[in-house]
Amino acid sequence: MSKIIDGREIALAINDKVKKNIQDLEFSVGRAPKLASVLVGSSGDAEIYVNMQKKAAELVGIEFASHEMDAGISKDELFVKIAELNADETVTSIIVQKPLPEGIQHDSVVASIRPEKDAEGIHTFNLGKILRKEADIVPCTPGAIMKMLRMQQIEFYGKEVVIIGHSAIVGKPLSMMMLNEMATTTVCHIGTYEKGDLASHARRADVLVVAVGKAELVKGDWVKDGAAVIDVGINKTAAGIVGDVKFSEVVEKASIITPVPGGVGPVTVSILMRNVSRAYRNQHS
Ligand code: NAD
Repeated sequence: MSKIIDGREIALAINDKVKKNIQDLEFSVGRAPKLASVLVGSSGDAEIYVNMQKKAAELVGIEFASHEMDAGISKDELFVKIAELNADETVTSIIVQKPLPEGIQHDSVVASIRPEKDAEGIHTFNLGKILRKEADIVPCTPGAIMKMLRMQQIEFYGKEVVIIGHSAIVGKPLSMMMLNEMATTTVCHIGTYEKGDLASHARRADVLVVAVGKAELVKGDWVKDGAAVIDVGINKTAAGIVGDVKFSEVVEKASIITPVPGGVGPVTVSILMRNVSRAYRNQHS
């Protein structure tokens, strides 16, 4: 039976540290860090995430400025908004919420943010720094996964790490972070699945990270006894929100496992706050 990792508890611990780091700097800087959130149009899910971010920001002493824009705005109008926030010295970090209306690429908007204000660590400049092991503003979910594993004293050197999912915000940056720690890293994706090789890769993993978005894709017999399993997936089903891992089976095999909900999600939000506090420190040191 696995140890079930409580993401909410880890998030609280990270938030406490972030709060203290901000308090230590705030007196000399003369103002708190400010996270500007840009939301275009309204979608139920995005609003839930914005509220979670706002709550976490308030908790750690980050001012949260919500910029809500009409769904019908043009790409140029959105770029003008980002330029304003880039130029505003009181704004220390910017996040552009997903989804954006069709025809506006999230990547291209993120590319227009000044890299030092990129709250999510997903600007090309910040992603590139991971390659050189120089990043301190990191993509939030990979940052959360590394933190959660480290807090369980998981060592990476020479270990078999298998990541299922190769998105630019989770799988790819995480694979680079794992390589930086000298893990033997395998990245699987839809091509691996279609070739029929997914389960055999998963079975080799000492650390298995699943970030796909397919409910209960990973079964108990895909997991080696004693593996550490991190489930990133968030899937809405008739039975409620479930991950990418069939929890009832994998919990019997893994040494540690993250639940969904209450695992990677809350830690991801606190790493966003850590990024904002680091950007604030970098801009004022
Ligand atoms: P994405 O859609 O950008 O990428 C999905 C990846 O899964 C791709 O690499 C694709 O090739 C692969 N894939 C698709 N079907 C597959 C299959 N059958 N077998 C193997 N690989 C397959 O997704 P994303 O943005 O990385 O998100 C993945 C999941 O993680 C989603 O459920 C998302 O909601 C969740 N997520 C959670 C958090 C969090 O904080 N907990 C953060 C980001 C994403």
